[in-house]
Amino acid sequence: SDAPTITLNNGVVMPQLGFGVWQVPDDEATAAVGHALEAGYRSIDTAAVYENEVGTGRALAASGLPREELFVTTKVWNSEQGYDSTLRAFDASLERLGLEYVDLYLIHWPMPMFDTYVETWRALEKLYADGRARAIGVSNFKPAQLRRLAEETATVPALNQVELHPTLQQGELRAYHREHSVVTEAWSPLGQGKDILADPVIGAIAERHGRTPAQVILRWHLQLGNVVIPKSVTPSRIRENINVFDFALDEADMASIAGLDTGTRLGPDPDEMD
Ligand code: NAD
Repeated sequence: SDAPTITLNNGVVMPQLGFGVWQVPDDEATAAVGHALEAGYRSIDTAAVYENEVGTGRALAASGLPREELFVTTKVWNSEQGYDSTLRAFDASLERLGLEYVDLYLIHWPMPMFDTYVETWRALEKLYADGRARAIGVSNFKPAQLRRLAEETATVPALNQVELHPTLQQGELRAYHREHSVVTEAWSPLGQGKDILADPVIGAIAERHGRTPAQVILRWHLQLGNVVIPKSVTPSRIRENINVFDFALDEADMASIAGLDTGTRLGPDPDEMD
């Protein structure tokens, strides 16, 4: 069940499917991440604000897997934006994770009202230059903010992690990413397990392929070229969500799912986040 990989714009190779741990309490994260590693996941997405870097790190250590087989992402929280504070936040994350380096470090939200994401990005460039983050990227950025980084700094983000699921397909942003060699990573890829899993269009496709709605949606993401990080704490669902590499949606399936885009967010609009 090895996930297919995506090569980032700096040559670093990343699994296209990983495991997200938002809302998993620290004392449950070790078991959840442990189940994911057993099921074959090698990429884990956490963040300082999730308060489960310690539990996540424990699972990584307990797995006995060689560090180079793992791909660990964490993120600098909004309150730590700024050059020096980001460097300090990074040190604290590494310490909690029990790691010498992360594979990917992200600015969690642009927070344009703070006007500090450019200096925060310069701190990430420093961490990258020092080899403490193998790749650096952003999350919840819109084209205007990506353009500003392009104008004022020397490094193009490897990836932008954004809300993306069949009801919020982010066509314009994905086009920008394609044009500028930024990988699209989908957060809440299953729409947080809400309405989309019960959608009749998804249900019909799932039935035809003998798969579950979650598997159909994850397969749709993979075929669009998205990196995807579904979350579950239930071992059977953790396994189900990575068992998506041995079937394919056809053009008609992809077109039907394209028709489900309503542009509706589950999370905040990044420009209005406070
Ligand atoms: P998700 O879309 O992955 O949905 C998770 C929920 O869907 C689960 O809690 C469960 O209720 C349900 N589910 C999972 N697998 C299922 C299955 N096989 N069958 C039925 N139901 C199933 O939602 P998410 O956790 O919001 O997003 C995934 C990850 O994205 C997060 O854990 C986090 O790592 C990341 N994320 C990042 C940001 C950001 O701002 N960068 C924001 C939100 C999430």
